[in-house]
Amino acid sequence: MRIENIAKTLLLPVVLLPLQVKGNSEGDSNKTPSIISSSNLKEPQKPTNINSVALARIIKSTNVNYSITEVITDPEKIDRDKYDAYYKVDTKNKGNFYIVQSSEGRTSALFYCAYKEEEKKDGLVFPEPEDSNTPVAVVSAKASGLDGVFEIYDKNGAYKVKYKFSPILYTPDHSQVNSKYLFNMEKILRSFPERLVAEFNSRGIRVLIAKDVQDSYYAYYPSWKFHDDTHPPDPNLPILEKTENGWKDNRRYANIGGLYIDNTAIMPQQWIKYGTSDEIIDRSDKFVATKGTVFHELGHALDYINSSPFSDTESYKTAYSKDVKNIAEDKQEAVAYFLMARREAFAELSAALMGGLSKNRAALMLSTFPQAAENIRKRVLPKFGVEISIDDIRKDIYPDYLSGKAKTASLEETRELFGMFTHNESFEDLGEVILLKNKSFVRQDTDKQKTPANKI
Ligand SMILES: [Zn+2]
Repeated sequence: MRIENIAKTLLLPVVLLPLQVKGNSEGDSNKTPSIISSSNLKEPQKPTNINSVALARIIKSTNVNYSITEVITDPEKIDRDKYDAYYKVDTKNKGNFYIVQSSEGRTSALFYCAYKEEEKKDGLVFPEPEDSNTPVAVVSAKASGLDGVFEIYDKNGAYKVKYKFSPILYTPDHSQVNSKYLFNMEKILRSFPERLVAEFNSRGIRVLIAKDVQDSYYAYYPSWKFHDDTHPPDPNLPILEKTENGWKDNRRYANIGGLYIDNTAIMPQQWIKYGTSDEIIDRSDKFVATKGTVFHELGHALDYINSSPFSDTESYKTAYSKDVKNIAEDKQEAVAYFLMARREAFAELSAALMGGLSKNRAALMLSTFPQAAENIRKRVLPKFGVEISIDDIRKDIYPDYLSGKAKTASLEETRELFGMFTHNESFEDLGEVILLKNKSFVRQDTDKQKTPANKI
């Protein structure tokens, strides 16, 4: 979803107006990791915020020089209510050192350090730092399931650990999310075309994740809370309703799992099931559906990356109109969400072409809107180094692409595919994840010729 009929005056900067503040890692003593089993371990150090600007300047010594030798998850040894795991690092020395992963946190505070202060003082853990901005250790994060590295810093006499999540991923200070959700988002964004992520980053486009509707939508757009409060749920209304003026979305803001507004894809971990006042849907374990939503929202970001949206170009509008005319009346409800606005089809088709959707969901879109898809494939994605051929699509995403065979999905099937738009939201079976075997279409080099003149 993209919100665009909101007056610009409501588009507050995303750093404003947090309505509530939850466990900031610095002041929240119950976030301090407990000692594993030995009373010898000094109380672990609480992290303080490390200056991210200073960190960004540190390009040197990113070579991995330490590894994790043990992953401790046993509830007999650690408090699993608060922590997912302790990762034991081989210090190549006599001292012990653990990276502690909280069960909830945010991009800037999910990992903590545990070690004995005496061992640090005696030089038994890591070598003395050259300066406080150079990590004393760089540890492969593979054992945690992440692809990056942990950097250990020695600042003000204490060790701090830093993991660099995707540069466009952000959790506001007033909220925390489940570590599973944070990990999933990290993996998903690492599978997004890298050059496009860099383009988003340079333009300040962000993916904001927060615990719930309160911490996300309402915190930044208080008028949305007022709207929801004054529009109680009506379980008798369908989510999408056909009216004289086309399809109408009856959801409240609280029912939306993700949206794009003001350069920000906002994706709460939890939201409220449509038609109910308080039934919570949680996406922590829903990797496929989450991936589809992030790619869709970033499809909107792509559409709006320039001052004039790609979905406003005459060529896209013409292609989309031709596709719409070809949709039989009895098939319309199945794709109603993409008939509400051509921008929704743009976002979903971009997601499909970049490998973000389940195969079934991608197939339905690519067979229903083939001309709009071709417009994006040929005229938009190459501007950002994303080259995908028809053969690539047939091989990896949808075998019958442009074959003339329409993928016929019943309304029931579509309700499963697009669970977020329906009453029957299961979010369980959204189809097979697309694994892009042929990665060649995503080119990482900077192709100046393909970059439009108005790009930075
Ligand atoms: Zn959308």
